[in-house]
Amino acid sequence: MDLGIRGKRALVCASSKGLGRGCAEALAEAGVDLILNARSAGPLDEAAEAIRAAHGVTVTAIAADITTEAGRAEVLRAAGTVDILVTNAGGPPPGMWTDWSREDFLRALDANMLTPIELMKACLPAMIDQGWGRVVNITSQSVKSPIPVLGLSNSARAGLTGYVAGTARQVAPHGVTINNMLPGIHATDRAVSLDGGVAKAEGISLDEARARRQATIPARRYGTAEEFGAMCAFLCSQHAGFIVGQNILLDGGAVNATL
Ligand code: NAP
Repeated sequence: MDLGIRGKRALVCASSKGLGRGCAEALAEAGVDLILNARSAGPLDEAAEAIRAAHGVTVTAIAADITTEAGRAEVLRAAGTVDILVTNAGGPPPGMWTDWSREDFLRALDANMLTPIELMKACLPAMIDQGWGRVVNITSQSVKSPIPVLGLSNSARAGLTGYVAGTARQVAPHGVTINNMLPGIHATDRAVSLDGGVAKAEGISLDEARARRQATIPARRYGTAEEFGAMCAFLCSQHAGFIVGQNILLDGGAVNATL
């Protein structure tokens, strides 16, 4: 299927690895020029070079922490006007409800709620002016079904979801869509690190921790960054203009709900 977005420009945040990288690869395959971002320059430059070589698109790589004001300013300056924005950042650490201080909440809100909101506020006006734009926010299945040890994530992402629900309807008349993608467990560094935490806490091997988590997923496997990226590219395509303010769950059936 031709996604109809060849030649468009996309800013994909937190995209040297994992789900952000999957989104960047799929957009590049559709002919979209990219601005990639991550904190560590080495892996970021490698990702940029690999994507250029594989897809022949223009890739600008900006090493910066997207959750800081200075980092966002640097990335947005380099990006200029974009047609597509994919927001993403690392997730907050796990813990117990008794662990988290006000400062922990402020850090999580900054990273996983206020950062995507600031990025949207910066990019939406130009999209509205040109009468076309696509925003995809990477959130989490925890928005639909809480993950108790990820209370910081549950809270921050719920706040972002509420913001998107209203804002998506305000920008839709201008040909701009905003949707959220909700990953369940995907085979990325983040999943390995969470498996490592479970293994340590329960005194089991990493393989055993993974096998236990896979058994909780009806698809009996973790998702891949490639299939996640394919959905992102579709949501950014010409075909997805009528999909507005939705929360698309990619979880192998893990959330046990009818709707
Ligand atoms: P990942 O494999 O750890 O990749 C994270 C990517 O983001 C890396 O490129 C990393 O590069 C970059 N990054 C992290 N923090 C950043 C920051 N502050 N500024 C700029 N770049 C940053 O993570 P992932 O599994 O793809 O997860 C992506 C998001 O989805 C996270 O918010 C995670 O909580 C959420 N999620 C993931 C899963 C899952 O199973 N994987 C499930 C639910 C939700 P640097 O380290 O060099 O910055």
